Amino acid sequence: MRAEFTQGELVELLGREDFAPIYAQADQVRAEAVGDTVHIRALLEISNHCRRVCAYCGLRSPRTDLPRYRMTPEEIVSAACEAHAVGYRTIVLQSGEDPWFTPKILGELVGEIKARTGMAVTLGCGEMPREDYAYLRQAGTDRYLLKHETADPDLYRRLHPDSTLEQRVACLRTLKELGYETGSGFMVGLPGQTLDTLARDLLLLASIPCDMAGIGPFLPHPDTPLRDGTPGDPELTRRCVALARLLLPTANLPATTALTVRGDNGQVFSGGANVVMRKITPNSYKRMYEIYPAQLPDTDIPAQRAQLEEQIRNLGRVPL
Ligand code: SAM
Ligand code: SF4
Repeated sequence: MRAEFTQGELVELLGREDFAPIYAQADQVRAEAVGDTVHIRALLEISNHCRRVCAYCGLRSPRTDLPRYRMTPEEIVSAACEAHAVGYRTIVLQSGEDPWFTPKILGELVGEIKARTGMAVTLGCGEMPREDYAYLRQAGTDRYLLKHETADPDLYRRLHPDSTLEQRVACLRTLKELGYETGSGFMVGLPGQTLDTLARDLLLLASIPCDMAGIGPFLPHPDTPLRDGTPGDPELTRRCVALARLLLPTANLPATTALTVRGDNGQVFSGGANVVMRKITPNSYKRMYEIYPAQLPDTDIPAQRAQLEEQIRNLGRVPL
């Protein structure tokens, strides 16, 4: 059932005049491979400290004007318990690359959350040495999200002068070897990107192969070097999600937050996505975790969960 495409075929598909048949095919593959369930994940942004300099991101370390925060372990566990109480079964702990959150501290947090709630725990805290990923896996971490961002090594280098694509992909392969459900993904619309790059992005997801893939539009942040960039096209982003579904039928594919900022959930769900994330970060911190400009509503964990469940049911799908 898993489709095989060459780079050239993917470029041709991405540029098609009429993409409707591919959306329909992706939706059918989604229904057959993972069913009608839409998994709702709680996303908690535990720290906006970051040592990296990614050219697109509002949390990059050179931003000295940004107030920085770190949630305390008590605040993190309390937010996790609140999410669990209203029905969440997975929590994603995301942060900049913040050395304060050592593997020991993160491991204790994972253990505490699992003991108190039984939820699956996903980490998205950036690149680490193999031994740290191994330690966190031992501590009970189920999944890890680390987007490869772009499969073009030169573009990767320009956007991340402190790292290489090779290093990023090596981290993903390590996570996979250690038995994590491994998530990668990329941004659509990065300056200098072409359809050829997107085809390579999709093939990279398939080659890992990823268990999850977050594909979202690039959104320029005014306090970054990419401030004058053009926002990524939602339609092209949805096309990438649909093709990812054909390449990876059983993968968990979120309608990424960046896409829902620009468009409507219903559209992306009809093209192959089966996951959505909802921020549960307390308001006082949420405003400081601005990776790209977004008018986000105040956090109300029970009300937002209920609203999302209703939206999903209205689309004829089953929230979980
Ligand atoms: N620090 C970790 C990392 O980079 O893997 C996790 C947190 S980082 C903020 C999460 C994701 O935000 C990145 O993987 C990147 O794709 C996305 N991101 C950052 N800046 C963005 C922007 N301007 N537009 C769209 N996505 C962006
Ligand atoms: Fe830091 Fe992640 Fe932003 Fe890069 S994308 S600056 S690693 S938070």
